[in-house]
Amino acid sequence: MEPDRTEDVIAQELAAREVTARFVEVRARIAQACEDAGRDRASVQLVAVSKTFGAEHIAPVIKAGQRVFGENRVQETAGKWPALRAAHPDLELHLIGPLQTNKVREALSLFDVIQTLDRPSLAAALAKELRREGAAPAPRLLVQVNTGEEPQKAGVAPGEVDAFLAECRDTHGLAIDGLMCIPPADEPAAPHFALLAKIAARHGLKTLSMGMSGDFETAIALGATHVRVGSAIFGGR
Ligand SMILES: *Cc1c(COP(=O)(O)O)cnc(C)c1O
Repeated sequence: MEPDRTEDVIAQELAAREVTARFVEVRARIAQACEDAGRDRASVQLVAVSKTFGAEHIAPVIKAGQRVFGENRVQETAGKWPALRAAHPDLELHLIGPLQTNKVREALSLFDVIQTLDRPSLAAALAKELRREGAAPAPRLLVQVNTGEEPQKAGVAPGEVDAFLAECRDTHGLAIDGLMCIPPADEPAAPHFALLAKIAARHGLKTLSMGMSGDFETAIALGATHVRVGSAIFGGR
């Protein structure tokens, strides 16, 4: 073996070990947060957010036992996940980024869960595609709520969630599993998590996707069923 090739192999091995160590640490922190909150560990799922990272970073995390991953772009997912899926048929993929209506068909072929249902036109496009003969099986759907009412951020305003849920159900026949939010970066997250939990409870929705690397323990304390953790596992992007 050429010396520089050996260095590459060693560097990759070290990187894989680092990712694995961080993953194990995140899992331990989730278990501790569940214990602190008096919650069953099985009631919280880790969605490992692998956006921007290649298969060489993802493979060690799969090897360490993780099966649920989050991606924010359809194109990137189409490029890197089919091979990993073929090797690991029990993987589950969540779309956590905005979905354009013209990518709905492709998204349905790639994702088991779409966490970012955020507008009527997308609900209509999903419903239409799911009615098509030969369509992919229906994914689980979460409605993204713009809890901070930030103009630049996707999501349904808190005051419009009730009407949007009714529209999804009554007009489009879509079953909604729960809610998701991304709190404003410059505010404490807890009030946003509490608001999301309150809206979900009002509708009897059981799935709550909230909490990222910086605040997943807080989210677990406030009822998150899914935490989306990227950089704490894979490193900075
Ligand atoms: C990137 C991303 C995450 C993960 O963020 P980290 O801070 O790296 O854990 C979670 N949710 C969404 C919607 C994201 O886009």
